Amino acid sequence: MNDDLRETREALADAITRFARSEIAPNATAWDEAGEFPRQLYRRAGELGFLGIGYPEELGGTPASLALKLPVWVALARHGASGGVLASLFSHNIGLPPVIAHGSPALQREVVPAVLRGEKISALAITEPGGGSDVAQLRTTARRDGDHYVVDGEKTFITSGMRADWFTVAVRTDLSSKGAGGISMLLVPGDAPGVRRTKLAKMGWHCSDTAQLHFDGVRVPAHHLLGSEGAGFRIIMGNFNGERFGLAAAALGFAQACLDEALAWARQRKTFGAALVEHQVLRHKLVDMQMRISSTEAWLEQVAAQGDALAAQGRADAPEWVAQVCLLKNHATQTMQFCADAAVQILGGMGYMRGTVSERIYREVKVMMIGGGAEEIMKELAARQLGW
Ligand SMILES: Cc1cc2nc3c(=O)[nH]c(=O)nc-3n(C[C@H](O)[C@H](O)[C@H](O)COP(=O)(O)OP(=O)(O)OC[C@H]3O[C@@H](n4cnc5c(N)ncnc54)[C@H](O)[C@@H]3O)c2cc1C
Repeated sequence: MNDDLRETREALADAITRFARSEIAPNATAWDEAGEFPRQLYRRAGELGFLGIGYPEELGGTPASLALKLPVWVALARHGASGGVLASLFSHNIGLPPVIAHGSPALQREVVPAVLRGEKISALAITEPGGGSDVAQLRTTARRDGDHYVVDGEKTFITSGMRADWFTVAVRTDLSSKGAGGISMLLVPGDAPGVRRTKLAKMGWHCSDTAQLHFDGVRVPAHHLLGSEGAGFRIIMGNFNGERFGLAAAALGFAQACLDEALAWARQRKTFGAALVEHQVLRHKLVDMQMRISSTEAWLEQVAAQGDALAAQGRADAPEWVAQVCLLKNHATQTMQFCADAAVQILGGMGYMRGTVSERIYREVKVMMIGGGAEEIMKELAARQLGW
């Protein structure tokens, strides 16, 4: 890594850390209890330029490599310590990339700048009540009718589903095909007649507005098609890589947040005449957390550098990299799970109380191991990409 990149990363991570510590962390518990966070936070993150990281300048963003995005996700997770805020505040990072890669310039100008300013919200809708892992079997249809598509069907577990202004939706345009070949991507306005939303209750991420979406005869202009008809499955798979890398980076930050809290607690809490950290069993638990964090950190840096090098060669979705991302997502989320469990144990009864970071993160682990591609699916995909 050259000195320029190192300095830019440090400056960005400092700015993000200040934002996370001052505007997210102090409110995270209250927002989770309330079941939402203020919409104003999008505007604030937009004003500071954080929503635009990784987007083209002409659309109001700041282009960024994976190596530059990595410290952003880690710092947000570590110092904000709220998966619910991160998931919704940054749902455009899964909703917008297909628009950037495959939308017309006019559509991009209509949609992207307002989202990056925090005025509008973008979400991704792939998963259906009938299944999420087997994307090729999705049932939501988009029938062509003149210069519109008419969308019918249901999506579920959609992050930002209650508030989103734009949904990037996976639909079946070839009604005679049952597999991957008949799938397309369509940008659906959230206020289109026939779009209904139902809020879902969850184990964690309470302040994130997860929803079930119902599309009943929703008319969408045909120029909202992203890419060509039938190209949807490839677009979805490409989009997953960025999402999985981001989830792995956030998992590292959440693991570090658990270690930070557990270490601070272990230093000041005394039992049997000594601080917890002086009891060898607990000291070793903390070391085991650090060991997993260090390996995850090193692997993330390596995969970021590899991904940036491949992108520069025009091979962003090279199978060897896709396999690494799948394995890394599993490793990072397992690191998070181990650290959340160890931290709750070290905090004792306090670790079971609402309001501690570790208690919240303990409840947020499972979604990291399921969302964006569940652990079992990651293993299957990695094996296939490796030619096994
Ligand atoms: C809080 C939350 C937010 C989410 N946000 C979004 C979002 O914004 N947009 C979106 O589109 N989706 C979203 N999802 C959905 C998520 O991506 C899916 O839950 C995930 O892809 C798994 O799909 P599923 O739940 O239908 O599980 P299923 O596909 O039904 O699988 C159930 C279990 O079986 C396992 N399994 C399935 N097939 C196999 C196999 N062949 N071999 C071995 N094991 C297998 C899976 O790994 C999983 O553990 C979200 C989910 C949650 C919980």
